[in-house]
Amino acid sequence: MKLLDGKVCAESLVADISSKVAGYVNSGLRKPHMTVILVGEHAPSESYVKSKIKSCSSAGFESELLRFPEAVTEQELLSRIAMINADPATDGVIVQLPLPKHINPQHVINAISPDKDIDGFHPTNFGRMTLGQKAFRPATAYGICKLLQFYEIPVKAKHCVVIGRSNIVGKPISIMLSNDFEIGNATVTLTHIETPRQLLLDETRRADIIVVAVGIPGFVTEDMVKDGVVMIDVGINRLENGKIVGDVDFEAVSRKCSWITPVPGGVGRMTVAALMINTLMAYQNNFNLA
Ligand code: NAP
Repeated sequence: MKLLDGKVCAESLVADISSKVAGYVNSGLRKPHMTVILVGEHAPSESYVKSKIKSCSSAGFESELLRFPEAVTEQELLSRIAMINADPATDGVIVQLPLPKHINPQHVINAISPDKDIDGFHPTNFGRMTLGQKAFRPATAYGICKLLQFYEIPVKAKHCVVIGRSNIVGKPISIMLSNDFEIGNATVTLTHIETPRQLLLDETRRADIIVVAVGIPGFVTEDMVKDGVVMIDVGINRLENGKIVGDVDFEAVSRKCSWITPVPGGVGRMTVAALMINTLMAYQNNFNLA
């Protein structure tokens, strides 16, 4: 078994970005700029935002964290997003999810300009990505593709099973792996909570690559996979003892895998790296750079 090390891959991608940015800045351009919106106090969100801001600094970007109280109204948030959309000094904006219950996340996502939507959640970007057009691709799914590419894992013509159909992970990765993309052209089965247990087992047991994003610790067990499988564990679950684990029973399942992502240090790091790639693309679009 070998580790698909998200830390190593992310650091390499961010180093590439940083050298490109240094070139742009040396030629007289300003630095790329990311704005992060954080609403309320939610410990995991604080930690995700912190790692995004830290990665901006490693990539040579400027970043700005806008904090709003839990009680902020949807309208106040939408007004601020409209201001950011109109501000030429900001290349990309993300709104850290989840939002408080009184705010509809889809209203917020739809309010972000598709040109600054570095999370790739806006319907315009999601639609373009689905059609195989140039788009900001949803960051976690894009990060998984970059990780597979970095470790030269063959994807074309492989049988992939995706477990979970969320709009931010399961759905986009199933589309990206099946599209005629550089990392794609796989035959993909998307499973979800209504997938009968026996059908799920039949699919996972013959899968070459499994991507799991359900948010249930130890969901994928040893009996569900074949020898040599490539296992991508998206889950980030905080146990009562404070330990962070994925959706895979790592100790038992890893013995059968050819490759597996660790948690932490796998897909989470790649999500942040993909955000940096998307921000650089937004910046390059702004300045008509190749
Ligand atoms: P989500 O929105 O809660 O979606 C979970 C999905 O799993 C749903 O589609 C659900 O099906 C499906 N599901 C639940 N039980 C299932 C079962 N028994 N069999 C098959 N499918 C089942 O989750 P998410 O936002 O995608 O996140 C999933 C996990 O990934 C969480 O632990 C989250 O923290 C983590 N995450 C990590 C990153 C990262 O950067 N590493 C990024 C995002 C999320 P239904 O649609 O039918 O309900």
